[in-house]
Amino acid sequence: MAAAYDRNNVFAKILRGEIPCQKVFEDAHVLAFRDIKPQAPVHVLVIPKGEYVSSDDFSAKASPEEIAALFRAVGSIARELGIDKSGYRILANHGADSHQEVPHFHIHIFGGKSLGRMLPKE
Ligand code: AMP
Repeated sequence: MAAAYDRNNVFAKILRGEIPCQKVFEDAHVLAFRDIKPQAPVHVLVIPKGEYVSSDDFSAKASPEEIAALFRAVGSIARELGIDKSGYRILANHGADSHQEVPHFHIHIFGGKSLGRMLPKE
């Protein structure tokens, strides 16, 4: 069973407007903003507005509209930021083995340079 949603997590605060963000996209279901510690020239976080802890929680409980909105947003943002031709990587961490830091589901979009291997060599 997924962990309970923590309304004090940093992305919940961003969604409530209590913490600023560098917004790049917003619609009824989705907010996207620049990562505060970018790991690539383009590093954007795309989050659902609903309270989902992780990809596990989102995939189990989100409505078809929310799921579609999130993935449509990822594609739109990448095109808007001009990385659809050069290429980009999307990534979502879930749980301890992935080192997920913020317990509100988010998809990272990385781009703007050659991104190297998908995972570091052991
Ligand atoms: P993850 O390890 O997948 O949970 O990634 C969390 C990401 O959130 C990290 O890349 C952080 O740099 C980013 N982050 C944390 N706080 C903020 C914030 N206030 N605004 C934007 N990004 C943030």
